[in-house]
Amino acid sequence: MSESVITFCIEQIIPPEYRQIAIAKAIAENPANASPFEAAAERSKLWAPGRTLKVRFLDGTAEAHALVERYAHQWCDHANIHFNFGDHAQAEIRISFSRAGSWSAVGTDALIEEIFPAHAPTMNFGWLDETVVLHEFGHALGLIHEHQSPAQTIQWDEEAVIAYLAGPPNFWPAQRTRENVFARYSVEQTQFSAFDHASIMLYYFPPQFTRNGQVFAQNKTLSEQDKRFIAECYPK
Ligand SMILES: [Zn+2]
Repeated sequence: MSESVITFCIEQIIPPEYRQIAIAKAIAENPANASPFEAAAERSKLWAPGRTLKVRFLDGTAEAHALVERYAHQWCDHANIHFNFGDHAQAEIRISFSRAGSWSAVGTDALIEEIFPAHAPTMNFGWLDETVVLHEFGHALGLIHEHQSPAQTIQWDEEAVIAYLAGPPNFWPAQRTRENVFARYSVEQTQFSAFDHASIMLYYFPPQFTRNGQVFAQNKTLSEQDKRFIAECYPK
């Protein structure tokens, strides 16, 4: 993501007809997903604590693979969850560099074969740097966008945001912008914590995106709250 062109990660929204499958997969993976949590992960999509998730690259260069692996492991320094990168026949996290945009399945949604077939990617990098790797792996561990947290109070200039994202390189229809930027999760849908301006799960927004000219820094590393929160999601 360059300073001059703003590109957003595309949230992988599960269509309503698959929500029951999503819940069943999540609870089968981790029984704790059935009950509300204290601790802004999408509730009910966390992997079982202590799990080693297999990660496979479907395409891409050796340099790209090395960069992804190096930064992804940062999450594991703070949580009881592990990534095993390799040429696995079956991998929970499957990474491509060939699709449009950057995105990832949220947590156990990666297990929904109707949406993420066995040999299709669960994560894609349309651009590649430390920030987007940390961000997409945050989704893979079940975290949602910080700007969609119930604790968020951003005063969007909706017309300005829709107009910007409708242009190149995003070309987002207004509905996608409404779902990915303005929509907030309800308290019931999330294990939310206080809004964290330093979170890797918060994207950079320029002042013209808000009615009060609020500036959001471009976060490039895991925040202290990100580290605490992932530790709560994946306790020892
Ligand atoms: Zn995202």
